[in-house]
Amino acid sequence: MTVLLMTPPMTQLNTPYPATAYLTGFLRSRGYSAVQRDPAIELFLEMMTAQGLDIMRQHVEENFESFEDDQLPEVIYTFLAEFDRYRLCVEPVIRFLQGKDPSLALRIISRRFLPEGPAYNAITEMEAVSGDVLKTAFGDLGVQDKAKYLATLFINDLSAVITQGVDPYFEVSRYGERLAAANPYFDDLYDTLMAEPSFSSEILEQLVELYLEETQPTVVALTVPFPGNMLGALRIAQVCKEINPNLPVVMGGGFINTELRALKDTRLFEFVDFICLDDGERPLLTLLEYLKGEREVDDLVRTYFLAEDETGERYVHLNENTALHDIPQTDVGAPVYDGLPLSDYLSLCEMLNPMHRIWSDGRWNKLTIAHGCYWRKCSFCDVSLDYIDRYDEAGADILVDRIEQLIEETGQTGFHFVDEAAPPKALFALARRLIERGVVISWWGNIRFEKTFTAERCQLLADSGCIAVSGGLEVASDRLLQLMKKGVSVEQVARVTKAFSDSGILVHAYLMYGFPTQTEQETIDALEMVRQMMQQGCFQSAYWHRFAATIHSPIGLNPEDYGITLVERPETQFAENDVDFIDPVKVDHDMLGEGLRKALYNYMHGIGFDQPLSFWFTAPVSRPLVRKNLISKAINSVITSG
Ligand code: SF4
Repeated sequence: MTVLLMTPPMTQLNTPYPATAYLTGFLRSRGYSAVQRDPAIELFLEMMTAQGLDIMRQHVEENFESFEDDQLPEVIYTFLAEFDRYRLCVEPVIRFLQGKDPSLALRIISRRFLPEGPAYNAITEMEAVSGDVLKTAFGDLGVQDKAKYLATLFINDLSAVITQGVDPYFEVSRYGERLAAANPYFDDLYDTLMAEPSFSSEILEQLVELYLEETQPTVVALTVPFPGNMLGALRIAQVCKEINPNLPVVMGGGFINTELRALKDTRLFEFVDFICLDDGERPLLTLLEYLKGEREVDDLVRTYFLAEDETGERYVHLNENTALHDIPQTDVGAPVYDGLPLSDYLSLCEMLNPMHRIWSDGRWNKLTIAHGCYWRKCSFCDVSLDYIDRYDEAGADILVDRIEQLIEETGQTGFHFVDEAAPPKALFALARRLIERGVVISWWGNIRFEKTFTAERCQLLADSGCIAVSGGLEVASDRLLQLMKKGVSVEQVARVTKAFSDSGILVHAYLMYGFPTQTEQETIDALEMVRQMMQQGCFQSAYWHRFAATIHSPIGLNPEDYGITLVERPETQFAENDVDFIDPVKVDHDMLGEGLRKALYNYMHGIGFDQPLSFWFTAPVSRPLVRKNLISKAINSVITSG
C-alpha cells in the first residue's frame, strides 16, 4: 500500500509546508510506503519559465484585446511592452532566487537588466520620504541581498500579471482563497471546479498525472492548511478521480480542522472519499487499516464520509470514535523531506526589514516544541479546538534527536518552531540541551511575551541559536489586554521585547485593532505605544490584524461577555469561521486600519517616528493620551533595578 501525500497550491515559496513531511515520517515509522510531492512550488516554477510566459501572454492578449493601451492595468501594460525582457530574465531570476546562480546579482542590481513594473514603485515611494533607501538598507557590499530584493519585486510583478490578466484565483501564497474562507456554501468552489480549467489548473493537472504515474499510489492524501489551498486540493482530487475513480482520496489539515466542523454538502464527496479532522496521524493510520480490511468503518477516527440512511438518501457522516487516542508527541517520529525538491525553493526578500524577511527568505526545517498552547486562554483564539486545546510536549532530548536527524537529511541547520506559542520552560530546556550537545542551529518561533524571559534567559536562547521571536502585543492597551485574557501588559511586553532585542534576537509583534468595545482613543494610544517601542528598538517588525470574531473562540461562543452581538448567519453547509458582529461602540476601523498600516510600514523602514500620529490618517483623529516617555521609563526601570 503506497500513500502519496501532496501540498496543494499555494503555500510559501521558500520552504515546504511541513504537514506531508510529518505524515510521511510517521507512516514510514509504522511500516507504510509513503511518498510526497509539493505541487505548490512545482506549479509556480512551471509558470515562471519562458514557455510559461508565452502562454501567459496569449491569455493576457485574449483577455485584454478590446482594451486601449492607456486603459490597461499598469502591470499588464508593462508586461506586454517589455515582454521580451521578461521572457529573457525569468529563468535566470528563478535560478538566482534558488541560490543556484549568485553571480547574476551584479547584473540585477544594475537596475538595467530586469524590467521594472509597478512593484518597484515601492522603492520610489520610500525614496520620496527618506532618500536612497536601497543604499541605507544594503550599503555597498550587500550585493546579494539587494539583488534578492529587486528580483523579488520582479516576481511580484509577474504574479500580479497572472492574477490580473490570466487567472484571478492565483496569488503567490494562496489560491482561490475567497471561494473557501468562511463560505457557508460549497457552490462557489463547485462551480469553479466544474468550469473550464484555468492556466494554473491545466499545469496542475499535468503535474498530478506525472506524480500518479511515478508513484503508483493506492491512496492519495491532501493537506489543506489554509482556505487558499482548498481549490487546489479539490482540483488535484478531481484529476485523481478522472484518472482512476477507484483511487481513495483523503483530505485533512488546518482549514478543515477549523472551518469544516459542520460539513453537510455531499457534493464534496464527488472529489474526495474521506475527510479527517484534527491531528492527522491517528485518523490516517486507522483509515489505512480500514482500507486494508483490518478495521470496520465504525473504527474510523474523526473522519467524514458519505453514508446512506434507511431511505437510501446520502448524507455526510462524521465518525468520531473517541476510543482510539491520538498519537503522543513522543511517538510521532521526525519529519522526512525526501520527495520534496529542497534545492528548488525560492529565497525571497519582500521588504527592507531584517525581521520581516525571514518569513520568505531561507529554507527552514519546521518542527514543533509542543502540540497545542500551554496558555490557551486568549478570548479571540480558537481555544476550543484541538490544535490549541490539547497540550502535549515531547521533551528536549527527543527534540534535539529530531533536529539532528533533520540536519542529517536536509543538510540545513535553520529551524522554524511553528508552535502557536512555544512554552518557555521547554524552550529553556531545549536551549540548554542544544548547547550541551554542541548542536549548532539557527532557530526562531512564536512565543508569548512572558516576564519569565529575563535578559539572562534571552541571552541563553540567543546562545543556543535563537535568531528571532514573534509574539502578540495585540491591542497594545492594558484594559483590552485584560479583557482578552492575554496575560501580558504593555509595559511588560516593552521590557521583554527589549531584552530579546538586546540579546541580538529580532522581534516581530502581532498587533490587533477593532477589538470589541475598542475606542478610537485606545487605537491611537496603541499606535503611540507601538511608535515608542519601535523607536526604542523593542521590536523591529509588526503587523496590524483587524480583529475577527471566530465561532470557536470564547468571544464567538459568549459574545455578550464582550459587549457585542453576533449577526445571524445561514445554516452552514460547507465552511464556517469568521462571524460578523455588532459593536455598540461605533468607530471607523477601516479608516483607522489604513492609517495604522501606513504608520507601521514607515516605522518598519526606520522612518516617520517624528511625524505627529494624525499625519497617517485620512480623517482627523484624537491626540494620543500616552506619556511620551512611557516606554523608555518602563525599559529603564528594569535596567536601573536589575
Ligand atoms: S492566542 Fe496564542 S497564546 Fe493565546 S491562547 Fe491562542 S495560541 Fe495561546
